[in-house]
Amino acid sequence: MLPKKMEEIPLQEINDPAVAAAGARLYMLRLDLAHPTVPGNKWFKLKYNLQEAQRSGTRTLLTFGGAYSNHIAAVAAAGKEYGFHTIGIIRGEEHTPLNNVLERAKANGMQLEYVSREAYLNKTEQEFINELGHRFGKFYLLPEGGTNALAVQGCAEICSHIRIPFQRVCCAVGTGGTIAGLISSLDSGQQATGFAVLKGASFLKGDIEALLARRSVRGSWGLELDYHFGGYAKSAKALDDFILSFGRHNNIPLEPVYTGKMMYGIVEMAKAGSFRRGEVIIALHTGGL
Ligand SMILES: *Cc1c(COP(=O)(O)O)cnc(C)c1O
Repeated sequence: MLPKKMEEIPLQEINDPAVAAAGARLYMLRLDLAHPTVPGNKWFKLKYNLQEAQRSGTRTLLTFGGAYSNHIAAVAAAGKEYGFHTIGIIRGEEHTPLNNVLERAKANGMQLEYVSREAYLNKTEQEFINELGHRFGKFYLLPEGGTNALAVQGCAEICSHIRIPFQRVCCAVGTGGTIAGLISSLDSGQQATGFAVLKGASFLKGDIEALLARRSVRGSWGLELDYHFGGYAKSAKALDDFILSFGRHNNIPLEPVYTGKMMYGIVEMAKAGSFRRGEVIIALHTGGL
C-alpha cells in the first residue's frame, strides 16, 4: 500500500542580499527531502498514477525519457518500492558504461529499451503504443516527464505542505505538470511563478492552460522564459558560480538543470524589483540531485 501521509517537509529560510534589499522573504520547501526513495516533485506526480495502476491490476509501468531523465529514475525507484515491473523506453542508442541515472534505474529493476531518436518522436502515437503492447504485454503508461491529469492532482497537494502564509510559490518548469498542480491549489491573492528550463518554451503557456482545463483557478500565474541558459541541461559559468555560492551560504545543494535556474531567476527578479515589500516567497526544491 502507498503511504498516505508524508512526514513534515522542511521549510528553510534563504538568506540572500538581493531578496533582503527588496524587503521580501524567501523560503525553500525541501521536496528533495520529502520521500526517501522517490524524492522531489516526482513523488507527487507519481502517487495517484501508482494508485490507479494498482487499482486497475496492472503490474507493469512503462514510460519514456532521455538518458538523464529524473522521471526515469523516479519511476524505476517507485517500481522497486511498490512492487511494479518497470520498462523505460530510452531515447537514442545505448552507451556503455551506463550513466548514473540509467545504472541506478537498472539496479532498481527497470528494463531499459532503446529506440532511435526518430522512432522516439512517435511516442504519443497510438500505433507506436500498440506496438509496444505487442512487444511487452499489458502496461500502465506514464507519459514522458510523467505529466498527466493524475500528476497534476498529486502536485495540487504540494502547497498544503507549506505551513506559513505566502503570496508567491516558485518552481522550475519542464513539462508544466508541477506548476499546473500548484496553480490549481492557490487562493486568490496568491501567485505561482514558473522558470522554464527549456529554450523557446512559450508553448508551455498553452500546455499549462490545457492541464488546468476543468479546474477552477483562483490565484494568478506567470512564466519566466529567460533563465534557460541556452536550453535544457545547458549551463554557464555564471550559473555554476551561483550554485556554488548558494550552496555555501545556505547549505542547500542545487543542480544546474532545474533548481539552479529557478533560484538564479528569483534572485535576478529581486534585483529587478519584481517583488513587493513584505512578500513571502516559497521556492520549491524539486530534487534532481
Ligand atoms: C522533472 C523535474 C522538474 C519539472 O517538472 P515538470 O512537472 O515537468 O514541469 C523540475 N525540477 C526537477 C528537479 C525535476 O526533476
